[in-house]
This record gives sequence, structure tokens and C-alpha cells, in this order.
Amino acid sequence: MRVWAIANQKGGVGKTTTTLALGRGLAMRGQRVLLMDLDPHSSLTRAFGLPAEPAPSGVLDLFDQPTAELGPLVRETGIDNLSFVAAQTALATLERRSATQPGLGMALANALARGGQDYDYVLFDCPPTLGLLMVNALAAADRVIIPTQTEPLALHGLNGMCRTVDMIERSRRRPLPASVLPTLHDKRTRTGNDTLRQMQETHGDRVWDDAIPNDTRICSVDELVKPLSAGQYPGRGLSAYRRALEWLLGCDRVQMEQAA
Ligand code: ADP
Ligand code: MG
Repeated sequence: MRVWAIANQKGGVGKTTTTLALGRGLAMRGQRVLLMDLDPHSSLTRAFGLPAEPAPSGVLDLFDQPTAELGPLVRETGIDNLSFVAAQTALATLERRSATQPGLGMALANALARGGQDYDYVLFDCPPTLGLLMVNALAAADRVIIPTQTEPLALHGLNGMCRTVDMIERSRRRPLPASVLPTLHDKRTRTGNDTLRQMQETHGDRVWDDAIPNDTRICSVDELVKPLSAGQYPGRGLSAYRRALEWLLGCDRVQMEQAA
């Protein structure tokens, strides 16, 4: 099992879109994929048509009962090989509770150790805050994927995220490779191209040498859960995500070879 955390402390950068597109791409390659929605805003959960009320079972249960099993929380998506665990709005209260409940930092890693063996890949759709949920995801991850919009303000978010990753890596004493995915890129604008170049200069080969373009076909996450009919052209955005997946799988292969 490989665990990827899709994370950025900034909202609206394409985390949920990336989780769905990569998860789908892996599932299409025949990998058994579990998506876990860690964001109290629950947009991934909503994309699969699960309403917020009444509160569904999901990620919060793994924190409420430290021995809860993953299996009963997993839902089918209607897409072959792709399952998910829902987020609840009440996940937002976790950060407050964590101060009085020590030991919650490994809740997700422990849950995967108990019930993750049914999956080849687990992808965490992280919330845009550096709190207990993000720390849990990074503690359990084999790789963090950082979607970053190619606009100047996003560079601050990226730098902050890289510092967080370094901090987690030091405390867990196991490498946490980071891969930066430039997103929502508009190659017709000078700002977009300048920002992309700056990202690549500052963060080197952590950054994909391509970018996910702005594509109206994926301007709603709901588009990413619709079945693709045979022969349908997926559009520029999804084609780019397919290339991004190849790059990430290549990064994983290198990482595993180095570890061997
Ligand atoms: P986050 O999870 O980081 O908040 P989302 O994945 O929800 O970000 O993306 C924010 C918004 O931008 C959503 O409405 C999404 O559909 C849209 N979006 C994301 N990526 C693209 C893209 N490449 N082209 C067009 N719209 C996109
Ligand atoms: Mg999101």
C-alpha cells in the first residue's frame, strides 16, 4: 500500500480536483484505490452525492473510537476500483478537542495499519489548515503532493507547506518526499508563466516540469466523478492529470529503488 497526501495550506488550489483525478487515473490502471476526505468542507464527499445531513459515518469515527475499523466506513463510488471514506462537518471540532486528547496524531496511520491492506493506494484530500488532520495525513503519508496555483500569492503558501513537510520529516524520522503540481495554469498570461518559472527555480525537481491547465471541463469537481464513455476525449485538464500521474509513479519508483 502507498499513501499519498494531497495537501496545501491554501484553499482553492485544486486539492480535491487533484485527489479525484489522480485517484481515478490509478483506478483506471487497475489499482485498488481508497480516497479519504479529511476536509470538513467535504467537497469530495459531496461530489459523490453524499449529503451533509444526517451526518454520515466517516473519518471522524476513526478519531472518536481509536480502535474503529476502516472497513465499515468505506463506500463505493460507482467507479471500478475506487472507494472513499466520507468527511463530516464536525471534523472542524477536532482541532479544539485534540488539545485535551493526546495521542490523536497517529489515528489515521493506525487505522490504515489495521485496515489498509485491501488497497494499493490511499489518497488523503487534506483540509487547507495546518492542524491535527493535516498532521495525521503527513504522518501516515509516503509522499505529499502539493497542488499550487501558478499565481504569485500561491508561492507563499508553497513555501509554508514545504516548511511544514520538513518539520514533519524531522519528527517522524522517515523521508517524506514532496511533489509540487502546478495547477490552474493559464499559459497565455505572463504572470502565470513567470510564477511557474519561479516555482521551478526555487523548488527544483520537486516541481513537475509541466502544469495542469485551466480547463472549463473540470471547473466543477462533480465533473470528475461522471463515468467517461468509451472513446470520449477527456479534455486538456484530465490529459494533463494523466501525465502528472505518470510523473508521480516515476518519482515513487525512484524513491523505492533508493530505499532498497
Ligand atoms: P481545493 O480542494 O484546493 O479547495 P478544488 O479542487 O476544490 O480546490 O478547486 C477549486 C475550484 O477550482 C473548484 O471549483 C474546481 O472545480 C476548480 N478547478 C480546479 N482545478 C481546475 C482546473 N484545472 N481548471 C478549471 N477549474 C479547476
Ligand atoms: Mg478541497
